[in-house]
Amino acid sequence: MKYSVAPKKSLGQHFLHNDHYARKIVDSLDLQPADFLVEIGPGTGALTRFFYPELKERYIGIEIDDRAVADLKSKFGEDINILHKDFMKSDPAEWLLPGEKVKVVGNVPYYITTPILFRVHEVRNRVSHLVVMIQKEVAQRIVAPPGGKEYGILSVQFQQAAKCELLFKVPPGAFFPPPTVDSAVIRMTFYENAPFAPADPEFFQAVVRQAFHARRKTLKNNLKSFTGSREDFSVDLSRRAETLSVEEFVRLTNELDALRFPQKP
Ligand code: SAH
Repeated sequence: MKYSVAPKKSLGQHFLHNDHYARKIVDSLDLQPADFLVEIGPGTGALTRFFYPELKERYIGIEIDDRAVADLKSKFGEDINILHKDFMKSDPAEWLLPGEKVKVVGNVPYYITTPILFRVHEVRNRVSHLVVMIQKEVAQRIVAPPGGKEYGILSVQFQQAAKCELLFKVPPGAFFPPPTVDSAVIRMTFYENAPFAPADPEFFQAVVRQAFHARRKTLKNNLKSFTGSREDFSVDLSRRAETLSVEEFVRLTNELDALRFPQKP
């Protein structure tokens, strides 16, 4: 087999061995000559080889496995910019390349998909696009419209911040070893000016999380700590969180925000 690194389950290593999908992922990035690209978990370079030769110092990979780091250096040269660490323990300042904004790509380890997504979300003002291969179920939750079971914190948080697209699905057979789940590639294009913007993004996050705290309960129940006894909001509090559009969430958050600081202009 052509695998230079024996896959370790504990590191979520499922190496892509299908150029058709590798190219599709790379094409989805729509790389431009001056772009800076951050790759999470380059592994043995299945994606890297399509863009590194063009990018060189405008590339950084973050890879936890020393065997993969050695493999990448032997394939692409000692100069390849690889941060040898756990992405979740890295400070974004280490990988936010000096460009104004970066693109982020990865066939990410599935055991930490959502923490990775939230970490990128935290620094979204420095990220223009995120293209990642993740479990199909998580991808579907991210792009889900209001009203269904799949719509939740991930959907609201990411759809507020970015245009979210599920681009295509990838079957287990495209990887070695094949994962037990189906995969999908999503693209988030972060808004410069979000169509619906909360006055306080952190408060928005807190309200959304709390609103979904007990999915089957109404907003009135879940959001008591924010609303107190008031009920005169533009959104009916007898509804459940999963029925609210992103716009309604933002509006409700801003109304709650005004309650917190009634003296604010
Ligand atoms: N992009 C490659 C590898 C995908 S497998 C391909 O498509 O073939 C996931 C990769 O993420 C592996 O290389 C694994 O070593 C790496 N990885 C796992 N946990 C990580 C972490 N916490 N931080 C950085 N990289 C990690």
